[in-house]
Amino acid sequence: MSEFETEIPTILATPPNPDLAALLAERQGLIRANRFLADRVDALMNVHHAAILIIDPETGTILDANDAAVRRYAYSRTQLLTRHIGEINTLTKPEIAQRIQQAVAARRNHFEFSHRLRDGSVQEVDVYSGPIFYNGNVALISFIHDATRRKSLERKLKAMASTDSLTGCCNRRRFLTILRHEFRQSRRNRMPLTFAMVDLDHFKTVNDTFGHPAGDMVLKALAKSCAKMIRDSDCFGRLGGEEFGVILPATAIAAAIPVLSRVREAAQELRLVLPHGTAGATLSIGISAAVDGDDDETAMMKRADAALYAAKANGRNRLEVVSG
Ligand code: GH3
Ligand code: MG
Ligand code: MG
Repeated sequence: MSEFETEIPTILATPPNPDLAALLAERQGLIRANRFLADRVDALMNVHHAAILIIDPETGTILDANDAAVRRYAYSRTQLLTRHIGEINTLTKPEIAQRIQQAVAARRNHFEFSHRLRDGSVQEVDVYSGPIFYNGNVALISFIHDATRRKSLERKLKAMASTDSLTGCCNRRRFLTILRHEFRQSRRNRMPLTFAMVDLDHFKTVNDTFGHPAGDMVLKALAKSCAKMIRDSDCFGRLGGEEFGVILPATAIAAAIPVLSRVREAAQELRLVLPHGTAGATLSIGISAAVDGDDDETAMMKRADAALYAAKANGRNRLEVVSG
């Protein structure tokens, strides 16, 4: 086992020290003994495909940069070496100082940062950082990888996991999460909460007359125009099939009715021109509110379902309320 392999665990095992100066002195002792690393920093910098910056942990100054870093940030090497890491990292200086201290103490070695390039654009990066012995002192070496593609994929996946693929509105899973959250919030803040269950009337007929793909088009267009009728603070989601839900936080039933009436009217006015005729659909809406005796949001949902059943029974294309 080499000297390098035996030293590193000792460094990692050192408990965190909040005093950076003391920490640096301690690191220096450990890393100075490890000439293996120091001798290889230059070679590493030159061959590594990742951008590498060596940073003075006390001042945040960039002490050295490899060719990949010069290409990444589009500064000349000389320009890069006069910069402070705070001119590149978009965090505040105190936040950067805190991250530097974590990296020097080897308490943390992976960071997700946004780095500003010379042209002002900002790139999301993965940074792997740790202490090294550099020109007689402890410095921080950072390997910087472009994370743009990964972060963009992560965002897409996250959006997909909460969005209904047909209508683009929030899906059942996301909708129920929001409903649970809003129910708890209304409890905590003693604020009203209204919930509405929305179901298309005679939708089977639309499918039977025009075909399932046309039915899908109706669902999509309907969800789009209904979602426009609610306020920013409300949530319109697809609970499944041709059934939707509306969450109206901080709203009593009396105030929710005009909003939900607009939703019903928007559906009624919608006419979709299809190859074999014009299709539309009306909505039945069951409305309920959170009440003191409710253990959780499911009781409120059951009441809205009962109200929806009443709306269907009373002729459809209407709102029906169950309060309490
Ligand atoms: P009502 O609610 O007024 O009682 O009548 P309905 O015809 O809408 O009744 P029901 O709820 O029994 O039927 C719902 C129909 O919605 C059945 C199914 O064919 C259709 N449906 C459910 N999900 C989709 C979907 O994603 N796309 C299409 N095109 N149709 C769907
Ligand atoms: Mg239904
Ligand atoms: Mg229906």
